[in-house]
Amino acid sequence: VQVSRLQLEGQSGGTAYYLLVFRDISELRRLDRMRSDFVANASHELRTPLASLRGFIETMQGPARDDPKSRERFLGIMLDQANRMSRLVDDLLSLSRLELKAHMAPSEMVDLVPLIGHVCDSLAPLADDLDVELRLDLADAPLRVLGDRDELVQVFENLVENACKYGQEGKIVEVSLRHDPVHGIEFSVKDKGPGIPAEHVPRLTERFYRVNVEDSRSKKGTGLGLAIVKHILTRHRARLIVRSEIGKGSEFTVRF
Ligand code: ADP
Repeated sequence: VQVSRLQLEGQSGGTAYYLLVFRDISELRRLDRMRSDFVANASHELRTPLASLRGFIETMQGPARDDPKSRERFLGIMLDQANRMSRLVDDLLSLSRLELKAHMAPSEMVDLVPLIGHVCDSLAPLADDLDVELRLDLADAPLRVLGDRDELVQVFENLVENACKYGQEGKIVEVSLRHDPVHGIEFSVKDKGPGIPAEHVPRLTERFYRVNVEDSRSKKGTGLGLAIVKHILTRHRARLIVRSEIGKGSEFTVRF
């Protein structure tokens, strides 16, 4: 609690009057802590690939100077690290732009049917590479929401990409979009992968939260994807529902 004291004008009979203000600043403190944790995490995530780049540059200047085979291999690793840094910077910029827009409601009418079809077309090469079959079940009639087209693409891309990457071993990813009489417009993506332990599910949309850090790194994750998804959905007054069962797979549903 922050306390401030203000002496009021005028005294009577030698009595001074004060105004005492007690302000509950726990929420401000919590936000401050979250911000500094975020900066620390972001710096750490950027420092790791930077340290690796520095290490490889030094090796190439020294021990590997005259070994073309090693140099070739190291250059490949260095490119991966540079790409990782640029994915991180892109995601950090996305988050910061979304924070600026948080209070502005999106105003465009967007038909989700062709939009999701387009997202799945663009992810077909990734699904192919991972040996995953993408099955689509989209409504026949247009399903429109008030939204921001680019942000919605980002949401669906993230969720379908995650299902392909983390549910790869299940071989099949099912994407559906329908109008539910009770719940309204629902998008869902379902994989038959290893599933997510229940204790992790409520924390998935936290920034930099990963169920398995090494798994996420090897699958080119930044740990920011679902945080971005949550921000965008909040702005669209939509909800993300996660159902997952160990050994059976996961389903991510967006309810507009
Ligand atoms: P990342 O960039 O690491 O993929 P996300 O924020 O998109 O970050 O996801 C957070 C974590 O949630 C991932 O690191 C992964 O551990 C887990 N996850 C997301 N989607 C799935 C899924 N379909 N199946 C299993 N785990 C998942």
